[in-house]
This record gives sequence, C-alpha cells and structure tokens, in this order.
Amino acid sequence: MKRALVLLLGLICLMSSACGIIPYQEGDINKKDENKPADPKVVSPMETSQEWTEKKVPQKQDQWNLLLVKKEYPLPEDFSVPELKQLKSGHMVDSRIYEDLQNMLDDAKAAGVSPIICSAYRSVERQTSLFNERVGKEKDLGKTEEEAAIAAAMVIAVPGTSEHNTGLAVDIVDIDYQLLNEEQENTPAQKWLMANSYKYGFILRYPKNKVEITGVIYEPWHYRYVGQEAAKEITEQGITLEEYLNRV
Ligand SMILES: [Zn+2]
Repeated sequence: MKRALVLLLGLICLMSSACGIIPYQEGDINKKDENKPADPKVVSPMETSQEWTEKKVPQKQDQWNLLLVKKEYPLPEDFSVPELKQLKSGHMVDSRIYEDLQNMLDDAKAAGVSPIICSAYRSVERQTSLFNERVGKEKDLGKTEEEAAIAAAMVIAVPGTSEHNTGLAVDIVDIDYQLLNEEQENTPAQKWLMANSYKYGFILRYPKNKVEITGVIYEPWHYRYVGQEAAKEITEQGITLEEYLNRV
C-alpha cells in the first residue's frame, strides 16, 4: 500500500507544473494530537513537583514557528491568521518571518543566484475555493461527490492541511527554471538555498529521502520557517520537522 502511495505521489510529481500550481497530496484525515500529559495518578512518588511541572511545559509544537500542519495534523481549531506582511514579490507571509526571509533572498542575490518566490501564504478560503473548483471539474468527468473529493485531494491540499495556510511556508524557484519538479534541485538558486537556508531559520521541508515520513513528494522548492535554532538542529541531524517534534 505504501509503495503504491509512493508511486502515486511520484506520478503526481511528474504531473507537476509551472510555478504557481502546486501539486498536493494531503488528505483530510482528522487525527487529534494524542500527546497529552500523563495522568497525575501514575506519576512516580519519586518524582518531585518540579519534575512534574517541567512535564507540563508546552510541547515544542505549541510554538508558533514549530506548528506541524499536514493531513494528520490540520490547523488547530483556534488557529487565527497571523499578521501578514507583503514581500517585495507581492506575496504575503507571517510578519514574524519577513525579515529572515527577505535577508535570505537578498543574500542569495548578493551571492550571484536568483531565487524567486512563486507561492507563499494562501488563505483557507482561497484553498477551499481551489479545492471545490477541482471537485467540480472531477464531477464533470462523471465522478460521484466522494470520488471527486478523493481525486481533488490528490492534487490540491484539503483546506486547513497545507503549510501555506500558516504563512510560514514559501515555494522558491530559480528565475531561470520555474518548473516545480525534481530538476529544480540542480539550479544555482536551489543549491544555494539548500546549503544556506537554515542560517535564516528555514528548512527544505519535504526532502527526497523522507517521503515516507512527511507523506509528501520530494519538493526541492518548498521551504518552511521553523526559526534558526530548530533549523540548525534539523539540518545538522538530517531530520524532518516530524522527527524533530517526535511526531513520526
Ligand atoms: Zn509549497
């Protein structure tokens, strides 16, 4: 089953198109975070109250910059759209990542490469309309409502399950090669970003060798802000955000 899924994702990758139309494979499974504090009754009497207090410290995932959003972890119900700030490209991002992102792009240009952003913040409403539009097209092909929704979810993320809904993710391509496919990794802009993005708090979110963990095809254009501390650790250890958060 997993192999079939990977093959399917690969197929979607081949179908991927120019910058701006991004293939997504994220479904609509609503799995709640099961990471609750342990029942106080089972705490060992040896544990001090200080140790117990430490256990109740918010999980990493509760930090805004480490929010995990994917099909198994849709946006929290109390998620509110952050303050957005417009980049020079016209795209919007969470204002808290603006400076690091703009610095990264400016430094890349100073280093002689030309990255451009082709997608950034996308509202859930926009995502919903894109998704419904796709469902309509699938129904026109003779599919039932359910079949159409499944088919649509193969190419467009179900609203609320895309990192782009958070304002923390950006798709970046080389100005001389704007296709969203694996060849993107060979461009000068991408090589520079892959080597340097962590310094600015970004990680390449869906690496080639981690498809089974992320559940998303290799996307050598999708960068996610996690902050400089986490980005350094994730990069140095060669892990994913899921592994960093212990949510594999
Ligand atoms: Zn993306």
